[in-house]
Parts: sequence; structure tokens; C-alpha cells
Amino acid sequence: SILADQIAAGEVIERPASIVKELVENALDAHSHRIDIVVENAGLDSIRVIDDGDGIEAGDVALAFKRHATSKINDRKDLFRVQTMGFRGEALPSIASVADVVLTTAQEGATAGRSIHLHGGEMVANQPAPARRGTDVRVTELFFNTPARLKYLKSPHTELMRITDIVNRLALANPAVAISLIHNDKELFRSAGNGNLQQVVAAIYGIQAGRKMLPVQGSDPDFTVSGFVSLPELTRASRQYITITINHRYIRNFELTKAIIQGYESKLMVGRYPIAVINIDLDPVLVDVNVHPAKREVRLSKEPQLAKLISQTIRQRIAQENL
Ligand code: ADP
Ligand code: MG
Repeated sequence: SILADQIAAGEVIERPASIVKELVENALDAHSHRIDIVVENAGLDSIRVIDDGDGIEAGDVALAFKRHATSKINDRKDLFRVQTMGFRGEALPSIASVADVVLTTAQEGATAGRSIHLHGGEMVANQPAPARRGTDVRVTELFFNTPARLKYLKSPHTELMRITDIVNRLALANPAVAISLIHNDKELFRSAGNGNLQQVVAAIYGIQAGRKMLPVQGSDPDFTVSGFVSLPELTRASRQYITITINHRYIRNFELTKAIIQGYESKLMVGRYPIAVINIDLDPVLVDVNVHPAKREVRLSKEPQLAKLISQTIRQRIAQENL
């Protein structure tokens, strides 16, 4: 029901940045090579995400807006081996229940695409569209029917910062995908999509990796850790500049963040934090991403072992630099 969708939206869709995150993650799940995000007035007027991914079969487009109609889980066992970012089948119906949504999509080789229009969860149109490979989702009138949500939003400046932040993290997690962010006709970010994480770090933080950002790499039988960490003298005043990804999925985890900081031993000044981008490759059976609806907090088996590997890898790399 639309009400159930709105309740779910309360958990998953808090603000424009949540919509950007869900739509971009869907585009990533659809194997896109290029994702363009076009936003007006910090997403309050319009959010559009255009990808060149798999697209949705014409007959399944309406289904994608039904709750729990995910195409990403085939049986219960899959729940424990989730590789893709979305798997709950909640994002599209949730977004559609609190906004106006037009989704246009086509699969490769299809003779026609499909365009569906929903307003506050009610279907307005579902009709043929040009066969451009990929999916284009446009969200306007966000929270038009949930005034309490609308009131809860911060200033456009703050909302835009949150959008930029999530786009940066998704780009850091997916250096092989070309991601761009345009706000009010101005390009705020663009990654090349050539797989070069160094370049993405440089584009976001303005720091040439290799000089002040050190490549790190370490592994044990369960985990492989790799990425870039700043030299101890290159710090920031918050942990915001630490990005952790698991199998190229942006996550948040307090213990692992702490492990990165501990890798510096006492080389950081009080209240200062490194810049770091760390990806952890692991067997998906070791991670439970189903803890929080926004799917950013994850629960890990063998977390202490992984924390130790992260600290050690960073400690050794920094020691090497001081020789
Ligand atoms: P979930 O991602 O959890 O499966 P969503 O509500 O986000 O749920 O999406 C529902 C379904 O719609 C997905 O499972 C997928 O099949 C389809 N879908 C959504 N966005 C895209 C996209 N950009 N490209 C291809 N398929 C998509
Ligand atoms: Mg999704």
C-alpha cells in the first residue's frame, strides 16, 4: 500500500541525499559504466540519475515500484550472499510514495523502452519510450505529501553538502564507473571511470596521491585491504575524510574507522584525523548488511581480526615512509 511505502520511506528516504544514494546504487547494481546525477536546488526541486546500465524489461517496470519486488534475491540463501547494494526492494516504492517520479528505461537490443510516471505512489502513466539503453529516473516534488518531512530538511546548502558527500563516497567506492554531479547547471564533480582510485582521491580532496597519500595493501586468509592513506602530517579536523568500502560498497563501521586511526599510533595530533580510502575485499558470507534500512552500518564476522589487519597494514606503510 502507499501508506506502507510512506512508512518505509520514513526509514530510508530522509532527505535528497538518500534518494541520490538509492538511485546511484541501483545504477551501480545494473552494471552501469557511466552515471550522471543532475540536481536542481539541492535536490529539493529535482533529482535526476541517468545510467547506461542493464535497464528494466518493459513488463517489469511497474513491478519495480512494488514493495519487496527486488530482482536481486532469488531465494533465502541469497540473503546471506548479497553482493549487490540493494536487495530489499524498498527504495523505488518508498521514493515514489513521497514524490513525483518518472522512470524511463530500456534494455540493450530492445526495440522500445518504457516510461512510467508515479505521483505520490499512484501510477499516472506507463507507456512506450525511446530505446535508449539504460535507466533515467527523475524525482521532483519531494515530500509534497509529507509536510513534516519537508520541514525537517536543512538549508539547501546543507542538503547539497550531503549530496556531494554521498556522491564522493560512491565515486571513491567505484573508481571504474564514470560518475558526474551537476547542480543548477554547474558541474561539481566528475570522475573518469578508468579504475584509477588515485585520480578519484585527487579529484575529491585535491591531493596528489603518491606524494602525501600513500598506497596501502595488506591481506590475511580472510581479507584483502587496499587503498590510500594520508601521511601523518596530512590531517583533517574530522573523521569525515575516512571512507571504508567493503567489496566496493560504501559502509560505516566504528571499529574499522578506529582501526585506521590506530594505525597511526600516536603520530596524529589530538582531534586530527587522517584522510583515508580503504576497500576491504572479503567473502560476502562474512558480512551482514541487513542491520539498518539505509544499509550503511554493517555487521562483520571476524571484525577484531580485520581491525588488526587494517591497523597493521597502515602502521607498516607509515613506518616504511619514515626510513
Ligand atoms: P532493490 O535495489 O533493493 O532491489 P529498488 O526499489 O531500489 O530495490 O529497485 C527495485 C528493482 O528495480 C531492482 O531490483 C531492479 O530490478 C530495478 N531497478 C531499479 N533501478 C534500476 C536501474 N537503474 N537499472 C536497472 N534496474 C533497476
Ligand atoms: Mg535499490
